[in-house]
Amino acid sequence: HVVVVGSFNVDHVWALPVLPRPGETLAGTYHTGPGGKGFNQATAAARAGARTAFVCALGDDVGGQWARALASADGIDLRALRSDAPTGTAGIYVDADGRNSIVIGPGANAQLSPAFIDEHRAAIGAANVVLTQLETPVESAAAAFALARAAGALTLLNPAPADAVVSAQLWALSDAITPNETEFCAQLRRQTGTELDPDTLAALDDAQLHAHCRALLPHGSVIVTLGKSGCFVSHADGALRGDAQACYRVAAAAVRAVDTTGAGDAFNGALAASLARAGERPFGEHIAYANRYAGLSTERAGAAAAMPNDADLRARFPS
Ligand code: ADP
Repeated sequence: HVVVVGSFNVDHVWALPVLPRPGETLAGTYHTGPGGKGFNQATAAARAGARTAFVCALGDDVGGQWARALASADGIDLRALRSDAPTGTAGIYVDADGRNSIVIGPGANAQLSPAFIDEHRAAIGAANVVLTQLETPVESAAAAFALARAAGALTLLNPAPADAVVSAQLWALSDAITPNETEFCAQLRRQTGTELDPDTLAALDDAQLHAHCRALLPHGSVIVTLGKSGCFVSHADGALRGDAQACYRVAAAAVRAVDTTGAGDAFNGALAASLARAGERPFGEHIAYANRYAGLSTERAGAAAAMPNDADLRARFPS
């Protein structure tokens, strides 16, 4: 099964003609929905068909109650630290051109502790895949990966958001990482000092991109998600995970994208779910599944709410 360690947020979203300026009061169309990279990815993993546990921290408030109800509706085994801080929130303004301004209130997410991770060592140790991101403390992510490693589970790190600093320990414990273009360039600059423009990444040739990936995570696999250009996979020498090639590209699925919010989360959750399924298949088949799943998720609005079911996916892309 899959264990996701990470954040839950209540997203408050306002659609406006233009983003508000200091001192300005505007009227917009409001909606709320569940979010947080951790919860989005756990929802994707569960709907992609994996038995999924989600380790997180929630406040003692309506947001926390909502998370419990949503997890239960999706059959997610919720392991929540009860925090004195409020449940995580995000305030999101979106203008008519689709540009956004976002404020995150980490709240309870910042309280997820290594001690709480340790309380759930049995669940983590029983997982095939452990997936985490950087919206909760890195020490807790590292604690979860250390337990996963000791039990022989695959560790998958989504190094998001881009401004978060990854500890050397967490980096060393990651078997594979899944940055988008911005996150890839931010971590490459931090880890190696190399400056790359995220807008030019998809245009690099395979050999150049592979070399940057090898510099970024010499011991593990790097999967760079490239939005509508699909993704790029780069494996370490001698660790091809069943693939024939050390690096390759996978084109995006042909979809009618209406909202790409959470596409990366869909990709990560579906990749973890596919990798956790019984049977040895080449890594590229799991990537292809995640790529189709993330593509389909863009045809619906919302983050966690937009995650498709495995049956929807198989109906849309019969193989
Ligand atoms: P993030 O949401 O983290 O910015 P990306 O934009 O790279 O991540 O998208 C993640 C994955 O979602 C891509 O690798 C691809 O599989 C899928 N995807 C995103 N945008 C599209 C699109 N317009 N058409 C098809 N697939 C898409």
